[in-house]
Amino acid sequence: MIIQNFINGQYVDPIADGWIDNYCPADGEVYGKIPDSSADDVEVAYIAARSAFKSWSILPVEERSKILLRLADLIEDNLERLAEAESEDNGKPVKLAKTVDIPRAAQNFRFFAHAITQFSSESHETVGLDAINYTLRQPIGVVGCISPWNLPLYLFTWKIAPAIAAGNCVVAKPSEITPLTAHMLGELCDKAGLPSGVLNIVHGYGHKAGQAIVEHPDIKAISFTGGTQTGAKIASAAAPLFKKLSLELGGKNPNIIFADCDYKNMLETTLRSSFANQGQICLCGSRIFIEQDLYEQFKIDFVDRVENLQIGHPNDENTDIGALVSSDHLDKVLDYIEIAKEEGGKLLCGGERVIIKGFDQGYYMSPAVIEVSTDECRANREEIFGPVVTIMPFKSEEEVLNIANKVDYGLSATIWTNDLNRTMRMSHAIHCGIVWVNTWMLRDLRTPFGGIKNSGVGREGGFEVLRFFTEPKNVCIKY
Ligand code: NDP
Repeated sequence: MIIQNFINGQYVDPIADGWIDNYCPADGEVYGKIPDSSADDVEVAYIAARSAFKSWSILPVEERSKILLRLADLIEDNLERLAEAESEDNGKPVKLAKTVDIPRAAQNFRFFAHAITQFSSESHETVGLDAINYTLRQPIGVVGCISPWNLPLYLFTWKIAPAIAAGNCVVAKPSEITPLTAHMLGELCDKAGLPSGVLNIVHGYGHKAGQAIVEHPDIKAISFTGGTQTGAKIASAAAPLFKKLSLELGGKNPNIIFADCDYKNMLETTLRSSFANQGQICLCGSRIFIEQDLYEQFKIDFVDRVENLQIGHPNDENTDIGALVSSDHLDKVLDYIEIAKEEGGKLLCGGERVIIKGFDQGYYMSPAVIEVSTDECRANREEIFGPVVTIMPFKSEEEVLNIANKVDYGLSATIWTNDLNRTMRMSHAIHCGIVWVNTWMLRDLRTPFGGIKNSGVGREGGFEVLRFFTEPKNVCIKY
């Protein structure tokens, strides 16, 4: 399978003709090549985008909206094909790709097709001075969108849809580890009637093609989702160029369980919030804190449920835990198991490499639950981004709040309780951008999405992201 860049509505080879191997996580085999693009490819993509911007930015909003709706329909029409590709490229169970990743990619386009028709700006009557001020919300121009490998098409389209809905043209780079569905999107854009050059997809390494997008002097805004260290690099490259930046970074999210919760619902959901997508979701609750009275019961039931999760080939409909995304990532996650043990953590289950018959070289591991006695350990403070959770008891609301807030990250938190006053107190006091109470990852695309501290800067979702992808201009008229 040869993947090409998608520039100005055409599939093209990288200018320098360099290629990168693409691995299938389920069996560790190379099954394709992707472009090793350079700054030259980014430049060609930029020129196409700049040229398309002239007409795209002035197209009536209803026309843009219709094209995005067609694109959403086409993604749904191709759901099976896209889900199989996503699973093959990323290692995630195909049933997850069919029910979450691809439907959400379609929903991203449909949501922003509608949202842009409802987006409005403000006006202010300046009483006493006989003037009226109104705000224009104009597209920025050419913007850069850079996305990670964990939810490939889901997060790629989460950026592209609002960017183009708002009238911008895009130079985008998916993760070099999972390029396949982004590649397939090009063909669907063409079928949907998206004018050439509105979306340009450049594949390749982050430090090369990604960096070239960030450093391009005329790409005026960067929307990035990925690791915190990469986010810091991007911020330092973008700052002297005065770019608008949206950074969605890592997390180390607490899952706080009080004894008065709805136990059955909590247990089912905690299984998902710990291990969905092999734990490779920035929103996973990887630090689980359980109120003392419930701790022993939770420990027994949870470990029992985790040991019963099916680890297997992503194509198998019975698979709960597929392959991790890459060999390097598997090694990193397994290293953390050793670190946790050295720090005094007790491995209650999992944490080992698993060989699936017939797919010996695949990147599989068993989901791990580690009991820790202190929140100060690395396993409890650093983002592992794999099927690993720590569990720890707590005695009081004050204690758990203090521990939950102590980490450098602040993306999301989950709280399990049926006490309304505690819900209110906790959700006000916890340091993060998103709080779920008695649920997890229930998404309404109108809400602000993002984190604080090392989890990022800015918010995606709803009108927040449409504000990001437009420049406000105030006009003052004296009458
Ligand atoms: P990375 O930060 O390694 O990469 C993200 C993207 O940035 C990739 O496309 C990558 O390319 C590219 N990139 C890398 N270096 C640069 C650079 N110097 N300039 C520009 N682009 C660059 O993250 P991962 O792909 O490993 O994704 C996992 C991380 O993403 C986790 O930390 C996770 O928490 C975070 N994440 C955050 C979410 C949120 O909403 N807050 C949601 C999902 C994930 P390449 O792949 O070639 O390196």
